[in-house]
This record gives sequence, structure tokens and C-alpha cells, in this order.
Amino acid sequence: MPYPHDIVCTSCRTHLRIETQGVLVIEMASFGPYKVWNADLYKCPGCGTEMVTGFGHFPIRDDHYAPDFGEWLDTAKTLAPKVIYDYEKPNRITITARQSKN
Ligand SMILES: [Zn+2]
Repeated sequence: MPYPHDIVCTSCRTHLRIETQGVLVIEMASFGPYKVWNADLYKCPGCGTEMVTGFGHFPIRDDHYAPDFGEWLDTAKTLAPKVIYDYEKPNRITITARQSKN
């Protein structure tokens, strides 16, 4: 029986499972990165549909105008298990694998 917060895939008729905790979500605006969030990535075990939810109450950073924001974001992207971009409008290919340090 699903929990109240479960996400159900209507195609596979089962709930999505957590795939990766603590993904980095970069909320994009017309000028570039706007806010940065931590969230969880869920995946349907049947069809592979993925969905991001479980956002914190507040973003990690929302001061895109700060002098250190760009450098901080570059570092955060290399440390995160996955990076997901959130655009205002649909935009395909949003997940990148963790970058190798080699
Ligand atoms: Zn499915």
C-alpha cells in the first residue's frame, strides 16, 4: 500500500522508488542559474520515468548576484551525485552524471 507522499506511475501502476538522494537542482532563469536546491530523484522501476521531489524548505543558494556564486556552483556541481537543471519551460536532457575528478 502506498504512503500518502508516494508518486505513482500511471503507465506502470506502481510507485516510483528513490534513485538518488541529495541531487543538486539548479533553477534556471533567462540570465542563467537563479537558485540552487537539494532534492531527491525518484524513478519508476517499470518504465524508468524519473521525477525530482523532496525539496528542502529553502534553497541552498539564492544569491546568484554574489561574487562567489559562479565558483561555488562549479564546485557544488562536481560534488553532487547528480545535477539537474530546472528551466521555466520544457528543455530536454537535464541530468548529467557526476563528473570524474581524473
Ligand atoms: Zn512507469
